[in-house]
Amino acid sequence: MSQQIPVKNVTPPAGETIDLYASREKIHTRAFSGFYRNLRRAGGALLFVLYFGTVWLNWDGHQAVWWNLPERKFHIFGATYWPQDFVLLSALLIIAAFGLFFITVFAGRVWCGYTCPQSVFTWIFMWAEKVTEGDRNQRMKLEKAPMSANKFARRFAKHSIWLGVSLVTALTFVGYFAPIRELLAELVTFDASGWALFWIAFFTLATYGNAGWLREQVCIHMCPYARFQSVMFDQDTLIVSYDPRRGETRGPRKKTADHKAQGLGDCIDCTLCVQVCPTGIDIRDGLQIECIGCAACIDACDAVMDKMNYPRGLISYTTEHNLSGQKTRLLRPRLIGYAIALLAMLAVFAWAVSNRSLVELDVLKDRVLYRENELGRIENVYTLKIMNKAQQDVVYRIDADGLDGLVYEGRREVRALAGEVLAIPVELSIDAEKLPSSTNEVTFHIRATDDDSIHNDASSRFIGPSVR
Ligand code: SF4
Ligand code: SF4
Repeated sequence: MSQQIPVKNVTPPAGETIDLYASREKIHTRAFSGFYRNLRRAGGALLFVLYFGTVWLNWDGHQAVWWNLPERKFHIFGATYWPQDFVLLSALLIIAAFGLFFITVFAGRVWCGYTCPQSVFTWIFMWAEKVTEGDRNQRMKLEKAPMSANKFARRFAKHSIWLGVSLVTALTFVGYFAPIRELLAELVTFDASGWALFWIAFFTLATYGNAGWLREQVCIHMCPYARFQSVMFDQDTLIVSYDPRRGETRGPRKKTADHKAQGLGDCIDCTLCVQVCPTGIDIRDGLQIECIGCAACIDACDAVMDKMNYPRGLISYTTEHNLSGQKTRLLRPRLIGYAIALLAMLAVFAWAVSNRSLVELDVLKDRVLYRENELGRIENVYTLKIMNKAQQDVVYRIDADGLDGLVYEGRREVRALAGEVLAIPVELSIDAEKLPSSTNEVTFHIRATDDDSIHNDASSRFIGPSVR
């Protein structure tokens, strides 16, 4: 017999229409405390110190972390990276993506709940809300109350804190591109550029809008990671989950009652887990795409279990296998695969960074193919582009080889200031009878005179007349 999927009749009564657009209901979260809240605060505090503190560090006379866009240089703690090094940045982004895949397969959305800037700033903004407008019930009352001096003052204070935090966040972010000390001095003297002012305003509004107004809507509707992570979950991935076998049948009871004898499970249906949820879902309905894995509901439910003298863990970090009474497999092929790929990429990246050349050499051959010089030798002209990527001035020695009897004619030693790009014209010459063919490969070498580890090579062509 074929089975029918049960459907609900949503046909509106004659003459009426139904609105398929459900407007967003504002979520008023209840404040809570607990182990995971403390963990999240510790993680958030560390990230804040890193984000707001790093921009003030100096190294070698300039800002330690500084995207110097006008000069196309990226300084990071004594190392300078150039556009030619951006393959390293791409590699770093790929490694970060693989790291995220690995963590997601292992522990679900811990990134979202604990470290994502959207979550961290939302928690800060929620704190400001609580300080200015009161706890959950007071906020809900205030929301419904007509405008009054008290309501205005509380709202004003809340938005002022939100805007203050947003402004400091934006200033810090722009400070990684325009040195923060100069930027602040320029702002005070009204000398800041229009672009700096534009980006400060842009990031202030972005932070204010995302953490103050959009909040969980960013996670639910805008974040691509929320969408594709579900394909990475397996039955051994850590998820925040309610244990229905233990919790059902839910219902209120007296603390002293023998609830098992009454046919009740451990869930007292207090809905605290829903009230603390920043995305407004009921985790008892099962795993949902809205859940950011913040564990607020675990803290709330554990506190209830403590009060009722029930064991903790009715809501917990667990796996689908655990919930269905099976064993969780920690090591599984997908996780091992991600771990191996991640380690291999990290090793290659570390090798590439430590072997990165501190001098770039490019050879541009002159458009005149060749000429005969006053000694009757065949001569080719080149321009050497030397880029000093070191933090200090360097004297380089230049040489060339590739053909027997090849003579290098040009400056043997050149000095390049830190970060300077030099264009050095040079010539190579050779007796015509020593040329093995009309097109030959030659190689230029440069090496720092006082540091053998700073060197580079570049090849080019030496052109001569046809050889019979
Ligand atoms: S907090 Fe725990 S006891 Fe209360 S409703 Fe949620 S699951 Fe049930
Ligand atoms: S269901 Fe629990 S873990 Fe998921 S977002 Fe809500 S409070 Fe956080």
